[in-house]
Amino acid sequence: MNKDIKRMLEDIEAEVRFTRDMIGRQRLGPEVMEAMAKVPRDKFVPDGVKAFAYDNGPLSIGHSQTISQPYIVALMTDLLQPKADHKVLEIGTGSGYQTAVLSQLVDRVYTVELEAALSESARQHLEELGYDNIEFRVGNGYEGWPEHAPYDGILVTAAAPFIPEPLIEQLKPGGHLVIPVGEPHLPQNLMLVTKDQQGKTRIEEILAVAFVPLRQNAGD
Ligand code: SAH
Repeated sequence: MNKDIKRMLEDIEAEVRFTRDMIGRQRLGPEVMEAMAKVPRDKFVPDGVKAFAYDNGPLSIGHSQTISQPYIVALMTDLLQPKADHKVLEIGTGSGYQTAVLSQLVDRVYTVELEAALSESARQHLEELGYDNIEFRVGNGYEGWPEHAPYDGILVTAAAPFIPEPLIEQLKPGGHLVIPVGEPHLPQNLMLVTKDQQGKTRIEEILAVAFVPLRQNAGD
């Protein structure tokens, strides 16, 4: 394994241990860490920041958006409890990095992005790297993607002021929704929503996080 990726994995493991009381786990699933080891993060960041591609921090990807911190990507993926036969919805394609991680763990990834230019460049990078189980949509993630619902898991990578009802509706019984909830520029709460077999939801607050906002319109 490349030494930069090895260092990134060690940094993720250290932060998981450091936050274990909050996140309720000592380590993340080995399949999640394996997926993190395989995705070349440097291919998803702009030229100017490639030197920092394997640092455990967020980076700017243009359009005032960021590629999430590797620890957060790994944690959110773990909270989703992905399985090989799962169909997953991601809201906020961004660079496509989180999409690539999910793509290796589940059967199909449906990913929605508000910004057409970001969706297009993520599609190009993901196709070039050979990820072939991903469907892209330019649209407003508050509405989910009803045509392919229900999903085994839904992962939102921007912070919403509330949990959008369509996302709960589009979740299968037994499924998990992972979403940062809160106002822009304040610490937000990473939430894990679980729908039980009767369709009732349980909400757990996992960790304080800082995400870019889930916007109502592309011009916001
Ligand atoms: N998972 C991405 C994170 C990107 S940041 C990565 O690791 O690169 C969040 C993304 O959500 C941005 O690309 C932003 O344009 C997008 N976004 C913001 N509001 C949205 C909305 N309402 N619907 C879909 N995408 C949205």
